[in-house]
Amino acid sequence: MNTLHPTWCDPAHCDVPDRQASLFARGGAHRSKLVPLNLETEARGETGWLYAGLSQSARSPAGVFLKWIINGEIVGHIPLEQAEPLAWLIADALANLRGDDQPVEHTKAPDQ
Ligand SMILES: [Zn+2]
Repeated sequence: MNTLHPTWCDPAHCDVPDRQASLFARGGAHRSKLVPLNLETEARGETGWLYAGLSQSARSPAGVFLKWIINGEIVGHIPLEQAEPLAWLIADALANLRGDDQPVEHTKAPDQ
């Protein structure tokens, strides 16, 4: 059977074979391109690059992970469902920065 890839899978990083005999014989993992994030923190004088990307085992297609890589080493492997709330916060903040969304006033009860 021909392998189908998630839309985020990058052929340069994926190692799932093009054809696989069966679900149980599947090997490899779908992987996205790695997104570089500059970790420079001027106040502490630290610099470096963190790379973030997605991976999914071909054998368990339900599990997509957000992985964090520093100096070529995977330092974090987070189930994507746990990263979703952060993704929505980032989407809101980006919409605000682009001017697609406007800041709002908080409506608080008088005793807060
Ligand atoms: Zn793939």
